[in-house]
Amino acid sequence: MRTLTVLGATGSIGTSTLDLVRRNPEGWRVVALTAHSSAIELARLAREFGAEIAVVADEACLPALRDALAGSGIEAAGGPAALVEAAARGAQVTVAAIVGCAGLAPTMAAIEQGGVIALANKEALVSAGDVMMAAVERHGATLLPVDSEHNAIFQCLCGNDPEHVRWITLTASGGPFRDWSWERLVAATPAEAVRHPNWDMGAKISVDSATMFNKGLELIEAYHLFPVGLDHLRIIVHPQSVVHSMVEYRDGSTLAQLGPSDMRVPIASALAWPGRMDTPCAPLDLAAIGELTFRSPDEVRFPATRLAREAAQSGGAVPAVLNAANEIAVAAFLGGQIGFTRIAAQVEDVLSSYAPPPPDCLSDVLEVDGEARARARLLVTST
Ligand code: NAD
Ligand code: MG
Repeated sequence: MRTLTVLGATGSIGTSTLDLVRRNPEGWRVVALTAHSSAIELARLAREFGAEIAVVADEACLPALRDALAGSGIEAAGGPAALVEAAARGAQVTVAAIVGCAGLAPTMAAIEQGGVIALANKEALVSAGDVMMAAVERHGATLLPVDSEHNAIFQCLCGNDPEHVRWITLTASGGPFRDWSWERLVAATPAEAVRHPNWDMGAKISVDSATMFNKGLELIEAYHLFPVGLDHLRIIVHPQSVVHSMVEYRDGSTLAQLGPSDMRVPIASALAWPGRMDTPCAPLDLAAIGELTFRSPDEVRFPATRLAREAAQSGGAVPAVLNAANEIAVAAFLGGQIGFTRIAAQVEDVLSSYAPPPPDCLSDVLEVDGEARARARLLVTST
């Protein structure tokens, strides 16, 4: 039996994680479950899984959480400090599944305990980059990627020296708009953007998938996780989302990981690592799928991957600026304040106006994140 904390337990990744735990209850003891504001849902999960503590990041929701947990013996807490305290309780495995840079501080707190971090929260790694990787090293933590592409690469690299790698190829579905003209993209609505053809995900990552910022963030994520250098990382569009990514070695061998478009597969891979566990996912039926196709990304209609590559090249605080500007632009798009193609334009504007020095520690990263958000918000209101 191992102890488990799920940061972002009520989200898409969080509920998929708990679905796997539900099928193997004797394998896990749940320490902390957290959510932003859905107190009732969080309390229900905390009771079901017998959590030690449940935390809502939004302190205004704490009274509702307390009411819903009354008589259960489960601790209720609220606010950003409580989130960090719960993450620092030293669970052997922490699933980092908060969306956005909001997950950075609790993820860092979990890393400082030196356990296994199953990382879905890519924005945290993109923003903190070297600061996070140094903390992983310093505290002897084990960072296991849950993002399907990175989990695939992790599996394809297993046992091989990164020195032998010629290419790491991240696959991208291309999102719901991959065949749309620029004119159609300009008028794309939030409802259209969150309707992903292959994956069922939270709203923010669905929009990121539509803009290709998801792949841009993943490029930066891969850059930190796999030490092969930016020049050995590339992106290919693969509409079927069956090949989750590939590693090509110097001898011409390419290893790929294939699977259904179900995040429970990479989550299970991280939860059971270095072993394997059962999942309820439908087996891959290649004959029914019939065809796997690939094409180059179009960085004219979708500038996000170019912006992300440039940000990774610049390094330092630049990826944190890119991420923060994107988070604000996505929220503004979902709120009907800006158009779809303004997301990348606005990120580029913030990047060109703000070049802070490289961060040395978590508080430096959070400062950059805050300032980039403020600048991005000004652009929204002046649009
Ligand atoms: P989601 O929106 O479904 O869930 C997010 C979770 O984080 C919820 O539990 C929510 O309550 C919590 N949360 C939101 N804002 C918060 C805040 N400010 N403070 C504290 N908690 C907060 O998101 P998701 O789709 O599950 O994605 C989670 C992370 O996993 C993201 O970083 C995403 O990029 C990554 N990811 C998701 C998928 C997927 O299939 N959903 C795939 C790969 C990677
Ligand atoms: Mg992914």
